[in-house]
Parts: sequence; structure tokens; C-alpha cells
Amino acid sequence: MTHELLAICDACKKPVADGKGSLWVDMSEVDQATVNRRAWEQLEGQRLAPGIHGYSAESLMTYPESARWHVHHVACDPAPNANAYAIEVHRCRTWADLVLWTAHLMGKAWLSDTDWEDLLEAAGQSTGTRITPVVRPTLNH
Ligand SMILES: [Zn+2]
Repeated sequence: MTHELLAICDACKKPVADGKGSLWVDMSEVDQATVNRRAWEQLEGQRLAPGIHGYSAESLMTYPESARWHVHHVACDPAPNANAYAIEVHRCRTWADLVLWTAHLMGKAWLSDTDWEDLLEAAGQSTGTRITPVVRPTLNH
């Protein structure tokens, strides 16, 4: 089977072979990110002038951190007992896999409280971290 995408371990920076690890996010971190975002929206919403929609650049500076997606070998995982939402690396080996995972995850209310968008951008830009292409693709963006 042809692999278009590599999964690079956050800890040892080496590719993760099929069956040897996963792409995962800690659902406790996601829940915390959601709580933080709601608190932020409430606070910043109260500061908005009547009739003004959209937050200022200054407000956005304090926008809470998203939960981070990680890639780890099973052996390198620093939190093996985390309450994780995990995708085994062998299930995300082609661009089509990544698109389908994205479509699936977009059905989760919590996706926007994670850094999936950053993961996708980094993959498209071949940054060599987390999910990254074997061959740098042509970009028409
Ligand atoms: Zn590793």
C-alpha cells in the first residue's frame, strides 16, 4: 500500500509505522479548552459595544489555547492513560484519508477547540511535523 502521509512522533521525531502509534487528542484538554473558550466569549462579549460584531485584535490576543493533537509511538506516549480520542496512524495514510477524517471530525462540536486546523495547514505545507507528506505536493493555493 502506498503511503502519501507520514506520522511523525512528537517525542522522538521519527516516523510512526503502521500499528505502532496514533494521532490523538486528550479529551480532558478538549473539555478544558471548551470551558475556557466559553468563559472568554462571555467576558469579551460583555465588553463589545452595542451593535459591534466581531472581536478586536486586542481581545483575540487573549483567546484561549486550543487542545493540541499529538502523534506518538505507543512506546513514546507520555500520557498512555489519557482519555484520548485516537486515530491509529495506519488509518491516516493518504490525503483522502485526511480529508475523510476532517469531514468526520467536523461533526464533532469540540473540533474547533482543538488545533486540527493547524495540523492540516502544517500537513499541506510539508512542515515535517505530526502528519506530513512523503512527497511535497504541488500547491495551487
Ligand atoms: Zn517516538
